[in-house]
Order: sequence, then C-alpha cells, then structure tokens
Amino acid sequence: MSRREEFVARTRALAEEIARASDRPVTLMEVCGTHAHQFARYGLAQILPEQVQLLSGPGCPVCVTSAGEIDAALMLARVPGVTIATFGDMVRVPGSDSTLAHERARGADVRVMFSPMEAVELAQGCGQQVVLLGVGFETTTPGVAVAVREAKRRGLRNFSIMSAAKRLMPALEALVAAEDVAVHGLLAPGHVSTIIGAAAYRAFVAEHSLPCVIAGFEPEQILRGVLALVRQLAEGRAEVENAYPGVVSEEGNLKALAAIDEVFEPADSQWRGLGLIPLGGLALREEYADLDALTRFGIEMPEGREHPACRCGEVLRGAIRPPECGAFGRACTPEHPLGPCMVSSEGACAAAWKYEG
Ligand code: SF4
Repeated sequence: MSRREEFVARTRALAEEIARASDRPVTLMEVCGTHAHQFARYGLAQILPEQVQLLSGPGCPVCVTSAGEIDAALMLARVPGVTIATFGDMVRVPGSDSTLAHERARGADVRVMFSPMEAVELAQGCGQQVVLLGVGFETTTPGVAVAVREAKRRGLRNFSIMSAAKRLMPALEALVAAEDVAVHGLLAPGHVSTIIGAAAYRAFVAEHSLPCVIAGFEPEQILRGVLALVRQLAEGRAEVENAYPGVVSEEGNLKALAAIDEVFEPADSQWRGLGLIPLGGLALREEYADLDALTRFGIEMPEGREHPACRCGEVLRGAIRPPECGAFGRACTPEHPLGPCMVSSEGACAAAWKYEG
C-alpha cells in the first residue's frame, strides 16, 4: 500500500468511527483559519457523515480586523513620512475606499514584514516614522509585545504601533450570544491554545455547556478532534479536551502571556462580524502609551464601511457558508476580493474558492 493509500484508509476509518459515534445531527464550528483551510484542502467535510455539519468561525485574524481598523491603517499610510510595517495579507484587504496596496501604488511606503522585530530594525536604521500594524490573536501578539518592548528599550522615537490585536475568549462569548449562530461544539485552535492553554476554555465550557476540543492541524488530528466532540455530544458531556497535548499545555505559554501582559491590557474592540466585543482586544498599557500610533498622528478610529455585497461578517459568525454569499466567485475572487475572507490565506472564502471552486 502506498503512503497515500494508507493515509486515505486511515482518514476513512476515522470518518467511519465518527459516523458510528454520532447519534444525532450536530453542527460543529472550527475557530481557526488553518483548520478551515485543512478541512477544505483535504475534503474532510465531504467524508464526514451527513449529520455532522461543519462551520467556519472567526478564526482568521486578518478577516476579523474591522473595517474601521483597516481605514485607520490607510489614514496612517497617507501621513507624509510614515512607513507602514505589516503582515502580507493585510496589504490587500479592502477598507472603505482603498487598500494598503493601492496606497502603496499612489506613493505610500508600505512594507511587508515577516516578524514584528523587523519593524524595530527598520525604525532603527531609517529616519521615517515606522508604524507597526499589530494585527492578530494571542499567537502573534507575544511577538508584537516583544517588538514594542524592544523599541521602548532602545528609545526609538520613530517607532509606534496601531494595535488591532484580538483576544479569543471574549469572541467565543460573543459568538454564543449571537442570535443567528447555533453550534453544538467547538474545535478550538491549536495555535492560540499553545499560548493561552487549555485552562483558558474551562470556565466558558462550564458556563455554556458547550463541548470544546483543542485539535492539531494534520487531517487525522482534526478528525480525531471531531470524533472527540461527537462522542461528548453522544454521551451528554460538555468538557474541554486537549487533543493536541504534545503542543498545548494546561497553563499555556507563561512567558508569552507575561510578554503580552507587560505591554498590553484588555480593551474593548471592534470585530468584523461580531461588532464591539467588551475586552475583545488589546491596547497599550500606560507605560507604552507614547508608542500609540493613532495618538501620535492625531487619528481617531473611524467607523469604517464594508462593501455592501460582502457577507464576511456572516461567514465569520458561521451564519452562512462562503458559497451562500451572492458575490462568491462572481464579483469576488482572490484576484478581485471584496472582503478579507477572500484575501487572507486563512480566510474561509479563499479556502472554499481554492479547494472547492
Ligand atoms: Fe465577502 Fe467575497 Fe466572502 Fe462574499 S465571497 S463574504 S464578498 S469575501
């Protein structure tokens, strides 16, 4: 048997096990952009029994960045003498009337970074005002925090940050409160869980009686996560299960959490699709407030406007699947995206388009 045949046999066996374990129709949600892509890439949803439905949730950090935050980044990019340092996907996400890529074409200095520390090095070596766009979940925030701390230590007066960092747990609270969302279990993200730890989910799961399984990213790890969820539901349990134990610990990465806590404090945050989430984001602490880019350049966070045809908000809540958006594959494609879910490499619409057509 070839390795590919062995792989297919193993995943089929797992799908059959899920079918045997599932005793009722259930809807499960993965809250991770990488999971969404793996589901689509390996056709995992198609091999699951019909009564196990899968939805994508707000797991793509670029996608949940609000239209207002994108517009604020565009305003910063237009300030003379400012260099924007950002991660790749952000460059093509549409704001109300432009993208960072368009602004760059018009002369703005927008640079793509592979790590936040690159922005610090850039500021160290140039006369420009360097603004780091701090976008992402707890996975990327420790790196951003370390960069901010280092810029402060070096006394760089030409470095600042626009924080659009998001916190997962308040978003899960907002998700279960949303009226158009009905899920029976959550497949929790391996990456974020590495930082926040399995313990972070326990109070949430106890309060909402919603099973939650932390899963890795290989197809078999994902299917084992689904199997664990289906078994919990069949047995009437609602627990946190760590199905990624070699990587995710109970308490998380204490060093990374300490770095976040030193630089940032929880703050209300606007999420695409979920609205204003209390304590759903992170703002600079008082000691680092002089590095806040919006304050430095006198910019107020605008409200932002999404494309009227774009239903990313509903996609991110799991209220619709990407093909249910009327623009999917017509007005909106990876070449001409109307919303972030078609731009980002972790976006559900991009995954659906790339692997399911
Ligand atoms: Fe938005 Fe395009 Fe996805 Fe529709 S298909 S929700 S327009 S990103």
